[in-house]
Amino acid sequence: MSKFVRKCNVGIQHGCSPSTQSKGTQVEKPSSSYHGKSDDNRDAFLTYDRLCREVLCSQDAIISWCQDIGLIAKAMPCPTCGECMAIVETNDRADHMKWECRRQIGRKRHRCEKSIRSGSWFAQSNLSLEETLKFTYWWCCDLKQDQIRQQLQLGKHTAVDWDMFCRETCEVVMMQADKKKVGGEGKRVQIDESKIGKRKYYRGHQVEGQWVFGGIEEDSRECFIVTVEHRDEATLLPLIQEWIAPGTTIISDCWKAYINLPKYGYTHETVNHSKEFVNKDGSHTNKIEGHWRQMKTNLSTHGRRKHHYASYLAEFLYRYKHKDSDIFKAFIHDVVKVYNPH
Ligand SMILES: [Zn+2]
Repeated sequence: MSKFVRKCNVGIQHGCSPSTQSKGTQVEKPSSSYHGKSDDNRDAFLTYDRLCREVLCSQDAIISWCQDIGLIAKAMPCPTCGECMAIVETNDRADHMKWECRRQIGRKRHRCEKSIRSGSWFAQSNLSLEETLKFTYWWCCDLKQDQIRQQLQLGKHTAVDWDMFCRETCEVVMMQADKKKVGGEGKRVQIDESKIGKRKYYRGHQVEGQWVFGGIEEDSRECFIVTVEHRDEATLLPLIQEWIAPGTTIISDCWKAYINLPKYGYTHETVNHSKEFVNKDGSHTNKIEGHWRQMKTNLSTHGRRKHHYASYLAEFLYRYKHKDSDIFKAFIHDVVKVYNPH
């Protein structure tokens, strides 16, 4: 847990960064789109082959790609004089590059140096930049942790840590940075609550279940899922207001926690699951139920600890959201939002 927290260093942007560049939106080619569907622009999709050929081909190429995209700082202020440090070659660091300042102030020359990884996704790790990018790529491809471990010849703990760093990034993005209400006037959102994780492992220990609550727009991939301790009105209503825009038509089962929704600016349609699958108006909650099933399948692949549910949910949501797009590019873009190199 300590590493988990340590790695999560949601960055504060420091001075001395090129002001004309918006770190969060840089791409390696102007034509690339992080979120857009790339059917009409196949070149924009960063295949593994292209990653190897164009990015991982040399340490210089890796560093310059990382700088272009914002994973590594393009400019670094000197802690002593505040001026921009220079990036110089070196043999005393694994990256073969470092930030350095050797300016003279008055009569005194100072010498400051800093890792090029400072504050970045690569900070505080023994993996090379190349290994980190490969891990990140394969993680985005949903390769199993053991497979990535084999490919990169990593120790168990390193792979577990990086898996967690990736999930944590999804969590920060989905639960905080990317928090956006679903629904709105004319939109329909299916909601449901469900218990996940209640099952016995083959080792025989019982895992406590976790209630989750979520909603999904009927005609898009916009959705939210949150873990909840209770599923009463006092818990769910504030979450509905937090996550679903007023004016939305909400479709749910007949759970009593939802009966007051019309008082809060929503239109409410219910499906009574004990009697019908589709109500007389044609409303149904099939989409959200399919969503739950998929999520439960995902979550039951491995033993999940209760305190990690939020990050597994976030990963699930993140993958769901980016299913039809270049998830690696989207993920890197979000990594840059969470880890501002400084
Ligand atoms: Zn200096």
